[in-house]
Amino acid sequence: MARGGGFILEETDIQDIFTPEDFTDEHREMARTTERFALEEIGPINDRLEEKDFDLLLEKLRQCAGLGLMMIDAPEEYGGLNLDKAASMLVTEKLAWSRNFGLTYMAHTGIGMLPLIYYGTPQQKGRYLRKLMEAEIIGSYCLTEPGSGSDALGARTVATLSEDGSHYLLTGTKQFITNSGFADLFTVFAKVDKKHFTAFLVERGTPGLSLGPEEKKMGMHGSSTRQVIFEAAPVPKENILGEIGKGHKIAFNVLNVGRFKLGALCVGQAKFALAEGSRYANERKQFGMPIGGFGAIQEKLADATALTFAAESAVYRLAGLIDGKLSELDSKAADYYALYQKGIEEFAAECAVVKVFCSEAAAQVISEMLQVHGGYGYIAGHAIEQMYRDERVQRIYEGTNEINRLLVATRLLRPEATPPSVAASVTWASSWSGQRQLLAGMKACCLLLGERARQRCGGQLAKAQEILLAFADMVIQVFALESAMLRAAKACQKASAVKDEQYRAVALLCAFADRQRFLASAERCAGFLENEDLLPVIAAKTPLATGGLLAAKRLLAEATLQAEKYIF
Ligand SMILES: Cc1cc2nc3c(=O)[nH]c(=O)nc-3n(C[C@H](O)[C@H](O)[C@H](O)COP(=O)(O)OP(=O)(O)OC[C@H]3O[C@@H](n4cnc5c(N)ncnc54)[C@H](O)[C@@H]3O)c2cc1C
Repeated sequence: MARGGGFILEETDIQDIFTPEDFTDEHREMARTTERFALEEIGPINDRLEEKDFDLLLEKLRQCAGLGLMMIDAPEEYGGLNLDKAASMLVTEKLAWSRNFGLTYMAHTGIGMLPLIYYGTPQQKGRYLRKLMEAEIIGSYCLTEPGSGSDALGARTVATLSEDGSHYLLTGTKQFITNSGFADLFTVFAKVDKKHFTAFLVERGTPGLSLGPEEKKMGMHGSSTRQVIFEAAPVPKENILGEIGKGHKIAFNVLNVGRFKLGALCVGQAKFALAEGSRYANERKQFGMPIGGFGAIQEKLADATALTFAAESAVYRLAGLIDGKLSELDSKAADYYALYQKGIEEFAAECAVVKVFCSEAAAQVISEMLQVHGGYGYIAGHAIEQMYRDERVQRIYEGTNEINRLLVATRLLRPEATPPSVAASVTWASSWSGQRQLLAGMKACCLLLGERARQRCGGQLAKAQEILLAFADMVIQVFALESAMLRAAKACQKASAVKDEQYRAVALLCAFADRQRFLASAERCAGFLENEDLLPVIAAKTPLATGGLLAAKRLLAEATLQAEKYIF
């Protein structure tokens, strides 16, 4: 069984990776339902949602709930489906077709509902969960404050026990709260006696709870973001979520899943952008021919396809890893959600890797697909213009990408994070030996530079952020490339001749681009460590045969133009 962070030390067997090609009929049906809902129900009203017609948004949230899309992560005993993470991610991915409705959905079903699902008492779940699944009430998550964003535990909101001991009085201000304009249930983090970080379930209508004005945001105009203000707001003791002083566990564990879901949403956005870009490339004529006929445009489509493929492979590989872990648990056991949390927490580094890689992949794909649109991409009314504004925040929330990179590096560089190396018996077809060698070399470079960093910085490593960020970048590229390679190699075992060629082409493009990013990070890391002598060693460990690169790009571009969408 794969362990969290283990990918950097061990080789993975292609049979052990979950890929989109492994989706069940149930997964595919759910994906179709979601995509249809997004395209047919949300697409046509996008402009009204952009104008903040929140009554219409609530109506659509209820319609979405009616399709069962809000009960995926909820336990069966409360009427939920408790489906696997692959299903949960697939639905989130497909909601990217509904533009920024996806954010409202994710905030409700993710950070809005999961704290209750994971930590609620039977009474609390009985009271709120069914209503949340039906979108009769909407959830939101109040962690950030004006003075504490990344430093979430530096929150200043306080909770003071009332004189009769029946409730807590909450005082403080929460900042940038998604869904707050129409939320009915707020999961609020506050410090009991100014010390003990604790989560509370707070109902709308609580005296002393008020909202700031809607923020005027760069993008995500169809979502609600406001301050939530508490002035001695009374919250019954029964509404403490989890234990007093253990709120940090709730905050961070829920964020792990939030980051993972955001990765899935970003994959959907990248696919959506590719569809927009390839369609426009066929339509738009310059110099007497469709712009899709130009190599410059084709290269953008091919590179965007490869980046999307890597991001998608990483998301569903992680879904398989977490589902594998969770399937060992007894969902009827009293400590199910405690063990469930532990299972997910083990993959905290991978959740952060996926968040960073996918949000940056979506940003790059969307930016390049906007470029394909030329000046029209810069004009309001084109979907790609909205996507460009909407995606920017994804590198900021659910933990900024800097904070997530630091998390990746510190988890993998912990002294206790080095389990004994396991010589797995790995099956890859011999035609993939070059890719296998490249990955082994990249992992060896991570271990080498990680060890040098530990030696050089010792106890001061946490303060050497530049080194940690460069190291994290190397690790992120390894996870993404390995996910893409394993998936392509696995798919080729069953693919038709045409598909086989496409999988091999995308694998080459992923390897080429990923290796470039990896080498830039490794060079940065070695430079910071003043270990330039390692550069020839790093280059020698990461060979790649690039024959057929141009043909591979043209092959993928032509297939994308023909399909007018992402082809895998
Ligand atoms: C549209 C939107 C919706 C949001 N929705 C929610 C929500 O529903 N609920 C909620 O609780 N919050 C929400 N947030 C808040 C979001 O999670 C925070 O904005 C984010 O965590 C960053 O915090 P900050 O804005 O205070 O930036 P800061 O923490 O002030 O960071 C500023 C810069 O400093 C860097 N930085 C900070 N600390 C460190 C460090 N230790 N080392 C290195 N670099 C560091 C950051 O990476 C960043 O580049 C939302 C934000 C937006 C914009």
